[in-house]
Amino acid sequence: MASVELKGLGKRYGDAVAVDDVSLLIGHGQLVCLLGPSGCGKTTTLRLIAGFLEPSAGEIVVGGKTLSSTQRTVPPEGRNMSMIFQSYALWPHMTVAENVAYGLRIRKMDKATIGSKLKAILSTTRLEALAERYPGELSGGQQQRVSLARALVVEPETLLLDEPLSNLDANLREEMRFEIRRLHDQYRYTTVYVTHDQSEAMTTADQIAVMNLGRIEQLGTPKEIYDAPRSVFVARFIGGSNILEGKAVDATHVAIGGTTLETTGRTLSKGEAVPVSIRQHEIELSTTEPSGANRLHAVVNRQVFLGAARDYTVALDDKTELRVTAPPAQDIAPGQKVWLRLPAERCRALTGGNEG
Ligand code: ADP
Ligand code: MG
Repeated sequence: MASVELKGLGKRYGDAVAVDDVSLLIGHGQLVCLLGPSGCGKTTTLRLIAGFLEPSAGEIVVGGKTLSSTQRTVPPEGRNMSMIFQSYALWPHMTVAENVAYGLRIRKMDKATIGSKLKAILSTTRLEALAERYPGELSGGQQQRVSLARALVVEPETLLLDEPLSNLDANLREEMRFEIRRLHDQYRYTTVYVTHDQSEAMTTADQIAVMNLGRIEQLGTPKEIYDAPRSVFVARFIGGSNILEGKAVDATHVAIGGTTLETTGRTLSKGEAVPVSIRQHEIELSTTEPSGANRLHAVVNRQVFLGAARDYTVALDDKTELRVTAPPAQDIAPGQKVWLRLPAERCRALTGGNEG
C-alpha cells in the first residue's frame, strides 16, 4: 500500500479553473474526504488521482512514484487503484458473484484463488446470500455493496469513491456510511472519498479536506473542522454557524452589535473587519441578565418547538439575526427581550468576510 501526495495540483478547462493549486498528503491507510458543494472540484481531483485526466499544473506522487505531471500521466490501468462512481455500473447480465470476480478473472488468477478471495469479500460485504442474483434483482443498497465488493476484491493500493451513497435513500445512506468505515478499518486501503454531505464525511473520514472554488480551504480531523473553522465558508458549510460581522478593537476583541466580544482563533489587527462565528447550540439564552463578559441584548423574532429542542431566531440591537438552539422547556414568546451569552472560547474570529 502507499501514500498519495498531491503537489500544487491544478486543472483548467480553457479559462475556467476546476482545481487550483491543491496540495494534500493522504497517508498510507488513511481515509481522506474531499468535502464541498457541487462544482468545487471534487470529482475533477479524484479523476486526476485515478489518471483519467492530465493535470495542467503540479503532480501526483503515489508510493514515491510520480504518476501524474504535466509531462507524463500514467493511464488508469497502470495504477493500482479502484474507483467507484456515483452510478454503480454493475454488469446486468452477470450475477453478483460474477460481477465481483470479474476483476480477478481479467488478472488471470487461478480458479482456487478467485474462489477463496470471492468467498471472503462476499462474507465481509454481507452478500453471500445474494451471490447468484442479478443486479436487477437487488435493492440500491445491495447494488452499492456489490460495487464496493468489486472494488475491494482486487486489493487496490488506493480506493477512490465519488459520492458513492448519493443514489441511496436516507436510511440506507446512514447505514452504508458505517459500513464503509467498517470496511476501511478492516482493509486499511488508502482511500479518497468524495462527498458534499457533511455527516457522511464526519462518519467516515480520518481527515476532511473542505473544498471551495477548486481549492482546499481547510484540512483537519472531523473534530478540528467542526470545532475550529478558520474561514466563513467552512463555518457556514459545516454545521451552519451564525456569522457576526464586527471590527477588531485589539488582538482578541471585536466590536459587534453595540458590545465588545472576546474571541478565539486568529490574532486580530486593530480596526480590521472580522467575521465571528458561533454555533446555534453554543449561545446561552436567558430572560435575566447573565454575569460575565460577552453578553448581548436581543429580541425574540420567532421560535419553533422541535421536540428535543427549541429553535429560536433572535435579533440584536443592530437587527442582525442569530439562530439559537435552546432546551425544549425554555418557552419565550416572540417580541420578548432576552439576553444572550456567547462564551468567548466559542466565538471564533474567521478569515474571508465577504464570501459565502
Ligand atoms: P464537483 O465534483 O465538486 O461537483 P467537478 O470537479 O465536477 O465538481 O467540477 C468542478 C468545476 O469544473 C465545475 O465548475 C465544472 O463545471 C467544471 N468542469 C468539470 N469538468 C469539466 C469539463 N470537462 N469541461 C469544462 N468544465 C468542466
Ligand atoms: Mg462531482
